[in-house]
Amino acid sequence: ACTVVLITGCSSGIGLGLAVRLASDASRRFKVYATMRNLAKKERLLECVRGCHASTLEILQLDVTDPLSLAAAAQQVQEQRVDVLVCNAGVGLMGPLETCSFQAMKTIFDVNVFGTIGTIQAFLPGMKRRKAGKIIISSSVGALQGIPFNAVYCASKFAVEGLCESLAVILQQFNVHVTLIECGPVNTSFLANLQRTDAEGSALQGLDPQTRALYSQYLQHCQSLFRDVAQDTEEVLQVFLEAICAPCPPLRSFTTQFFMPLTRLKLTSPDGSEYVRAMHKFVFSAGEAQGDQA
Ligand code: NAD
Repeated sequence: ACTVVLITGCSSGIGLGLAVRLASDASRRFKVYATMRNLAKKERLLECVRGCHASTLEILQLDVTDPLSLAAAAQQVQEQRVDVLVCNAGVGLMGPLETCSFQAMKTIFDVNVFGTIGTIQAFLPGMKRRKAGKIIISSSVGALQGIPFNAVYCASKFAVEGLCESLAVILQQFNVHVTLIECGPVNTSFLANLQRTDAEGSALQGLDPQTRALYSQYLQHCQSLFRDVAQDTEEVLQVFLEAICAPCPPLRSFTTQFFMPLTRLKLTSPDGSEYVRAMHKFVFSAGEAQGDQA
């Protein structure tokens, strides 16, 4: 029997790429339910899978923040059997904390945290019953360490780490494996899609000049980081594929080693001071600090 994979957030980026890759598998090992909030955006996906066997791909509407939409999508899955659930839908929020509106912060948590929890809740009972399943999460370096001016995004991704680590402890008894794929920057439309608090020119006006200067330094750092170290989607998909195919994938899988020296500081210096210093240097001393020297 083929492996049934359901993916959220398939209208672009990693979700789209993964759906295409699995649906066009030469040995037809997968049946893919590619889901997206807005079905009007399905053309790109259809274009990419043109020519592959129709039975390997089904597109479903799924807004992870809407319980009715989640329930309806779960109903449409054949025998409600999902072997691999890929919780990929997510959004970013960038800007000084003082400029993040309550509404913007709520949206981030609705999609990244409650959306992920709701998606897992919809498919977990079936996995437990069948005593088999994999839950794979599009996670982030920002889920393991704080990134300046991404405080709310990191808070939401940290939350998902806590969720999954807690679940993993119990789910091993049910032969259900939870895997967080820790991505660094990836060349997708994520940057274009993320919410920026300074999207409206006036947002930063009330802000103190020091924070404004730091933020503009950060934006430059971010730009060069994406230019210099961002991975192509294909490279990242390889790590997703390994988790999907491994009999017992680990709780965390890293798409890049680039941030490892920074990530490790959390363990080697538990009081956090080393990390805070190193991250500050990494972001704000342009040209001096590299990730591998941090
Ligand atoms: P992307 O913006 O192309 O993809 C995110 C997808 O989620 C979009 O298709 C969007 O429509 C969808 N989405 C948003 N709200 C939704 C909702 N309510 N219901 C269903 N779908 C919704 O960017 P991406 O890089 O492909 O991001 C995928 C995941 O990878 C995200 O969770 C992101 O946090 C994570 N990630 C991305 C990067 C990166 O640099 N690109 C780095 C680390 C982690």
